[in-house]
Amino acid sequence: MFNEKEYAKRYYAKNKERIKGRSKIWRRNNPDQAKQAVNAWRKNNIERKRELNRLWAKNNPAAYKEWVKKNPYRIKANNVRYYSENSISHIIIQRVYEDNIKKYGTLTCYLCLKPILFGKDCIEHKIPYSRGGTNNYENLGVAHRSCNSKKHNKTHIEVLNNAKISR
Ligand SMILES: [Zn+2]
Repeated sequence: MFNEKEYAKRYYAKNKERIKGRSKIWRRNNPDQAKQAVNAWRKNNIERKRELNRLWAKNNPAAYKEWVKKNPYRIKANNVRYYSENSISHIIIQRVYEDNIKKYGTLTCYLCLKPILFGKDCIEHKIPYSRGGTNNYENLGVAHRSCNSKKHNKTHIEVLNNAKISR
């Protein structure tokens, strides 16, 4: 006996061409819906898509070279995005801290609104990095390290809404 997942996998393997043909026809008949579905999937699977792209480039070096030749601006855009995502500039961090102190009078956690003792602070992504958040000023706040780890991969809005419900 197979479990359902195994069964679906085998069914797919056996009927691959037929399923592929059917979705091809569906995509042809519903181009707008197909495009929307792809975009939605990409938006929800940013990391997965990147991983797939990396894998594809690794397994198809010649085709990747061709792609780079045809899309130099895409590479540049990707690199800019990569660097801006992976390093928060000192200037931005400084601004986030300064504005926090200006706003609250003392360094204060933007999540629980309590003051932060020296050394207990961290820079926090309002929309988590793992969910497509950026390292831009607008997406950053100062928070307790403990609040940051409690928040985990929720967005700040989800955290604040949760707090309202439990209050
Ligand atoms: Zn806090």
